[in-house]
Parts: sequence; structure tokens; C-alpha cells
Amino acid sequence: MDTIGHFIDGARIAGTSGRKADVYDPATGQVTKTVALAGADELQRAVDAAKAAQPGWAATNPQRRARVFMKYVQLLNDNMQELAELLSSEHGKTVEDSKGDIQRGLEVAEFVIGIPHLMKSEFTEGAGPGIDMYSIRQPVGIGAGITPFNFPAMIPMWMFAPAVACGNAFILKPSERDPSVPMRLAELMMEAGLPKGVLQVVNGDRQAVDGLLQHPDIGAVSFVGSTPIAAHVYAEAARHGKRAQTFGGAKNHMIIMPDADLDQAADALIGAGYGSAGERCMAISVAVPVGEETANALIEKLTPRIEALKIGPASDSEADFGPVVTREAKEKILGLIEKGVSEGAKLVVDGRGFSMQGYEDGFFVGACLFDHVTRDMDIYTQEIFGPVLSVVRARDYDEALSLPTEHEYGNGVAIYTRDGDAARDFAARVPVGMIGINVPIPTPMAYHSFGGWKRSVFGDLNQHGPDSIKFWTRTKTVTSRWPSGIKDGAEFSMPVMR
Ligand code: NAD
Repeated sequence: MDTIGHFIDGARIAGTSGRKADVYDPATGQVTKTVALAGADELQRAVDAAKAAQPGWAATNPQRRARVFMKYVQLLNDNMQELAELLSSEHGKTVEDSKGDIQRGLEVAEFVIGIPHLMKSEFTEGAGPGIDMYSIRQPVGIGAGITPFNFPAMIPMWMFAPAVACGNAFILKPSERDPSVPMRLAELMMEAGLPKGVLQVVNGDRQAVDGLLQHPDIGAVSFVGSTPIAAHVYAEAARHGKRAQTFGGAKNHMIIMPDADLDQAADALIGAGYGSAGERCMAISVAVPVGEETANALIEKLTPRIEALKIGPASDSEADFGPVVTREAKEKILGLIEKGVSEGAKLVVDGRGFSMQGYEDGFFVGACLFDHVTRDMDIYTQEIFGPVLSVVRARDYDEALSLPTEHEYGNGVAIYTRDGDAARDFAARVPVGMIGINVPIPTPMAYHSFGGWKRSVFGDLNQHGPDSIKFWTRTKTVTSRWPSGIKDGAEFSMPVMR
């Protein structure tokens, strides 16, 4: 069986800690590979290689650094199918969906091709008599990224593309559930011309994360994953004097106003609720129809659409979504569905008994729809991260607005309406980081920044876009005054002693 090691100093190396984890094909439920879990020695090797490589890379002019990303984008496109199939084989999402995962990361690589422009800074001429002042952006040094299972291509690229383009060395600790694509992404960066040691992948679990957080040579840490771990990583990084941006879980609402196009809203909910088996941080997991009439009509439109969803392994090109990532994830989701039933929500579409013929051991969960969910229920307060949509009925707009306002998470939210005034008021008032107006998953493009509010994020700078350049660089401000020189006092005759 294949054992995935680490990618250090430009080459794949075997793990030496003796610890490893199983990697599954979620469609079959079978272990297909193992992955090495790094200990302190492997982490130190990665840091040593990063320290050796970073100064030379930072001194490489930004246009040349950009050219590596130009080539990289081309390589990602050339290898798209192979990468997508590899991604699906460990994550479980459909191959088309995996291509989207890669594409959204690729777009961050495209964004940082502008790094010569993005790193330009400020200049004040004549800040005082004969004094100029300018600020420059310099790389932090060595950055680290810790990523979740659900976007094993996009999220590593959110982090390493800007970090590396800014002149940092970077150590990626991907999810141990689907580590193969991150390894390939690092290999392709080498193929694109990145010097060895600049980008490395250290596979592992909590031990590797703690090692990164405590290491004195790592200056900045970016994390995406669940909220309790995000809070832990943020606190530990700060305790060790590092800058940190850590992104956590979500419970994204979609408000459906009585004037909305209900067919459009229902279609949007199907894609945003069940795509990728609900395992997206921007998935819509709560639908909030406003008014009883809207709610009844929405349930009527959703039910047949959900019942018609096709579930299958990633290899089935007809499938709408695949299995969830692990047996534990499946059990957690089924446990929460049971809880919802016992708490009194109405399970309108029941996917609990779903079994995939020929894939009986796979981690499949059928699509579920709950109606009459209330704000005190666990299925409302907790992130389910599965193919489960909850409908919370609101009497009016203000009640609808209060739901995402009061929820502890604030990643994304959407409103469906034809009324510009309602949409504008909603966008202005709701305390959530990413807002969709008649757009179900308002994930910003690479040249804007991505991030939530409240307990969906700790730290103040977002992923990609302009924020990422700030996060991965430090500002240095120079104040300069030159004594009067050659223009005033120069002598052009033969100097003689006076
Ligand atoms: P997770 O928190 O279990 O793991 C994320 C990373 O942390 C992994 O690399 C893992 O190895 C590491 N880790 C796990 N336990 C740890 C511990 N005790 N100490 C230190 N490190 C630890 O998350 P997941 O299950 O891989 O991903 C799903 C979660 O990520 C969901 O909550 C989802 O909402 C969230 N997510 C958020 C965003 C966002 O942008 N806000 C994006 C994608 C996913």
C-alpha cells in the first residue's frame, strides 16, 4: 500500500516518526493509502530547508517570482483531470466539483501573477524639509498553513500562492484525510521553476500543528478548519509571538423574501445546500422563508427536487454529490439528524436509510430536509457539515434578519428578493462577512478577500485579495534625509587643500 511521506527541500521523503494515519476512499469505505504523521525531526528538516532557501527567493525580483506562477497556472490546467481524479479519490466529491476546487485555487495563483504591482507601496515626497518617507513591504520569512479536508486544492493555494509570491518560504500542513493533492501541488510548483525549499508539505496531525505553532523560526500562521481548532491555533500562535489568521466553521442562512422567484431560490438552495454533500464552509444549511405562504410554497418546490438528487461515487459523472469524508463524519451527521427528529423538527425528506448499491461500505448519507426548525435546536446551533438543509420559518423580515445576526457563526449569508431596498438594508445590517444578493454562495473572487465574521474567524486579515499581501508581508517605513550634496557644493576644478 502507498505511504505518502512529506515534500521537503524539493523532494518527496519518507516519514521517520513511525506514526501514520489511514487514507480512505470514501466511496468504498476502504483504506487505500497511509500518510506519514510528522514529528519534530521532520518539521525541523522543513524549517532548515526553508531558512536556507528564503533569502534568495525574497531577493529574486518580483517579476521573476510572478513568472513561476504563470507557468504554474499552465501546469495546473494541463494536469486538471489527473488532479481532480486524485482529489475525488480521497475526498469523495464528484470529479467536476473537484475541478472547481482546483480552479478556485488556480485563480489565486493568477491573482499573484500581479505581485510586482501588488507589493508596490507608499511614498511621500517632502514629508519635512529635504525629507522623504516611504514604506516597503517585505516578506515575513517563513509562513505556515494548516488546511481542512474539504478543499484540499483551493485552500492550500489560498495560502501558499500569496505567501510565496511575496517572497516567503512556506510550510503547508494539509489535512491528513486527503493529502495527495497538496503533495502534487508542491511538485508542480517545483516544475514551474520554484527553487527547492521555498514550498514544503509536512503531513501530520495535532503534533505537527503544535510543532509549527511553537517553532521560533515561523513568523506567520494561516489556518482554516473547525472553530474550536481555529480558536486554539489563534491563541497558541499569539502566545508564541506569531501573527495569525484562523478561519472556523459556519452556519450559512438564506433568507427568502415573499417577492423572491421561488423556483430560482429552490434551485439555488439545492446546489448550495447539497453540493459537495454539504461539506463546504459556504454551504447554505439554513433556509429562512419569510411568511407562512412563502414557507409552504418553498417546501413544495424543494421536496421533489431533493428527492430527485442523484448520489454516487465520484466516478459517476451523473452524480450530484458523493459520500461524506469519513465514517466518523457520517455517524456525526446521522446523530444530529436523530437529534433533530427527537427535538421536534419535521423531517420532510429522510435520507438516513440511504445505501449505495455496490458501495454498501461507503460513507454515503442521503439528502435530508427539515422543516419547522427552531433556534434552540442542535441542528440549528451546530454546524452539521452534511447534506442536511433546515428550514426555519420567519414571520417577517426583522425576524429573518435576527437569525443570522444572532447566530454565533458569521461566514456567509444570502437574501433572495426582487426588492432593492430590502437587499440593501440586509447587506448593510447583517453581521456576516460575505453576503449574496440573489447569489447563494457568495464566495469572493481571488482578487477580493475571503473571510467571515464572529466565530467564523479569529484575526483581522482575510484570505487572498489585497488582505493576503498585507498578511504575508511586514511593513517597513523609511524616513530619509540627504545632506546637501553634489548639486550645491560640487567642485569641478582640481581639488586643492585650503
Ligand atoms: P478540522 O478543524 O478538524 O481540521 C483542520 C486542520 O486542523 C487539519 O489540518 C487537522 O489536521 C488540524 N487539526 C485537527 N485537530 C487538531 C488539533 N486538536 N490541534 C491542532 N490541529 C488540529 O477541520 P476539518 O474537519 O478538516 O474541516 C471542516 C471544518 O473546516 C468545518 O468546520 C468548516 O466549516 C471549516 N472550514 C472553514 C472555512 C472558512 O473559510 N471559514 C473553509 C473551509 C472549511
